[in-house]
Amino acid sequence: MTSVDDPVASGVCLETAHGAIALPTFLPDATRASVRTVDTLDLRTVGIDAVMVNAMHLAQRPGLRNVRQAGGLHRLMAWDGAIVSDSGGFQVLSLLRKQGKTSSIRAGGVTFREPDNGKKTVLTPGKVIEWQFSLKSDVAIALDDCTGPDDSAAEQLASTERTIRWFQQARKAYDLQCRQRREADPPLLVGVVQGGADPTLRERCVDALVESGAQGFGFGGWPLNAAGELEFDMFALIARLTPSNAPLFALGVGRPEHLVSLCQLTRRWVFDCTIPTRDARHGRLYAFVPDIATRGLTPDRGFYRNVYIHDEENARVDEPICATCDCPTCRRYSRAYLHHLFRVRDGLADRLATLHNLRFYTRLLEMLRAGGGPVPATAG
Ligand SMILES: [Zn+2]
Repeated sequence: MTSVDDPVASGVCLETAHGAIALPTFLPDATRASVRTVDTLDLRTVGIDAVMVNAMHLAQRPGLRNVRQAGGLHRLMAWDGAIVSDSGGFQVLSLLRKQGKTSSIRAGGVTFREPDNGKKTVLTPGKVIEWQFSLKSDVAIALDDCTGPDDSAAEQLASTERTIRWFQQARKAYDLQCRQRREADPPLLVGVVQGGADPTLRERCVDALVESGAQGFGFGGWPLNAAGELEFDMFALIARLTPSNAPLFALGVGRPEHLVSLCQLTRRWVFDCTIPTRDARHGRLYAFVPDIATRGLTPDRGFYRNVYIHDEENARVDEPICATCDCPTCRRYSRAYLHHLFRVRDGLADRLATLHNLRFYTRLLEMLRAGGGPVPATAG
């Protein structure tokens, strides 16, 4: 266990039916049950322990009946690591608020139409939990009502109260699912802390979630301010208010310097973000600076640099993306080859780039778990 008072304590784990995962950890985005361009064997090769899926998207396609028939999502994906499922509420609610359709957000849940086929879907706290039991997720995240950074104090208050009520309903649904399914390994139940920039609301939300039996806590709302800086004080507040053995889900936080920054507070973080995989497909690669072994990590961008593989200068570089990286891409291929693959738009380019970027993140997390210092390149 660790706390903000003891930021370098070790041994914090996310206990799941698919193994204990040392924290902090990073989850790649597997919204529709795949991390784009790589398979689950690839994920293990680069040191990934858990993935983040989206319950709502999977309930739509392939559908829960198909997942059940396959024996659960782990069987369907051929993945023996942990699966964390998000409710899908963030995507729906932020879209509705953006479109000004807040009347669709009611006490009982959210009504919306799927953009591609116009099909009406109702998202309720209970239904979202039932979906996540059907998927056999290791961690289930309750439905929450997220506001935008510019919303009024009244809207922040309403969103917080709604999030608390929804969590209470989610908890009842969770207990019912445990009884009905006689689940030996029920998922860990995570509540999302809302409250915008108001510390009093955030505290009220944490207290209510703890009281209703939340086993982990997500940071809701907008992790970055208008200037793109981390809402550090609010993360610090949540780290301080939550039970010291509870994992903290920094939903959508993924810039390397932000991971380092938050690990100064505590090591209980579970990060998830599309940055490494999306950037990989755009040819934006991550490399530690050559002297990382002596330099260590800092909460700024000084410990890494981006390699833009499309740049013409890479066409003749017979070196790996990162000299200290042990990923399959860096072990075998040069920047010149990768540059060529991107140029001719070969699908292999995306896969090799994704493997490398994910390994950059798992190396970063290894360093953070070791206390922020560098680790030698050994895993593969
Ligand atoms: Zn690499």
